[in-house]
Amino acid sequence: MITGKTNCVGILGYPVGHSLSPVMHNAAFEKNQMDYVYIPLPTAPTDLKTAVSALKAWNFCGANVTIPHKVAVMEYLDEIAEDARMIGAVNTITIRDGRAIGSNTDGIGFIASLRKADAPPEGGRAVLLGAGGAARAVVWGLLQNGIEKITILVRNIEKGLDFAKRFASYGDINVYTFNDTDAKEALRTCTLLVNTTPLGMAPNLDAMPEIDWADVAADAVVYDLIYTPLMTRFLCEAQERGHLVINGKDMLIEQGAESFLRWTGREPHRPSMEAAFDSFWASRQKND
Ligand code: NAP
Repeated sequence: MITGKTNCVGILGYPVGHSLSPVMHNAAFEKNQMDYVYIPLPTAPTDLKTAVSALKAWNFCGANVTIPHKVAVMEYLDEIAEDARMIGAVNTITIRDGRAIGSNTDGIGFIASLRKADAPPEGGRAVLLGAGGAARAVVWGLLQNGIEKITILVRNIEKGLDFAKRFASYGDINVYTFNDTDAKEALRTCTLLVNTTPLGMAPNLDAMPEIDWADVAADAVVYDLIYTPLMTRFLCEAQERGHLVINGKDMLIEQGAESFLRWTGREPHRPSMEAAFDSFWASRQKND
């Protein structure tokens, strides 16, 4: 029951109706028997500054931030944590002593999902397909967790080089176009191959990145950040060739779990979050 003492968190986005976060977090609050509520806060871009002030005025514990505010929100916050600075986007706001602190839990979520699949990053060689916002989180997570080498394959080399510059002083990062001969060498020796492009995401189920599986190390773990569908064409083809495959569902749950921890100081009940994810998608698919 929501009472006058209930602690509030929410999500700033526009729109927010598609977001899985309210169901996942409210399921965990209920299971954990915590007096918290997670509220959708649809916020037009022109109202973003006011919304951040309102989080403080209403004594919220914090909020998630989603499209289109992940970058724009930074100028309205009192402090930006290193993870958000390196990733270049905020997905979590924590209110402490009246100050709004922006951070980003996507990198931690990615690493936690690798560990859950028994595919730890330490000493590995990763190849990422694409260099957008999610790739920045993946790279930051890998660099913080002992990856030996990262190769990024892109269609636009200028954008890719710009991306790599951001992280160059933190580790061994190379960028090539998809059909470069050095790209093939990186694929042959990688331990982890990650699709960070939206290719294959519903409704474009036939799409997938340009990869010749003959080039990919036979024992590489193959990861797709997409979680709709759970098995993209990219993952299906990898699985047929015997690769261990991981989809984006656990990263989504784990980034949420880390936000939950930052707001409340407690670990959420993850099976409840996962069950909420599953039933949300089942009902969405029935209604589509
Ligand atoms: P983004 O910022 O738009 O970046 C997309 C990247 O993919 C860019 O580098 C883009 O290249 C590249 N790309 C797009 N189409 C391509 C094509 N046809 N061929 C080659 N490269 C192509 O998107 P994002 O926010 O990083 O999200 C990417 C995916 O990750 C989405 O499917 C999203 O749902 C998923 N995601 C999952 C989680 C999770 O928790 N599981 C979290 C975040 C994101 P250009 O720069 O050249 O356009």
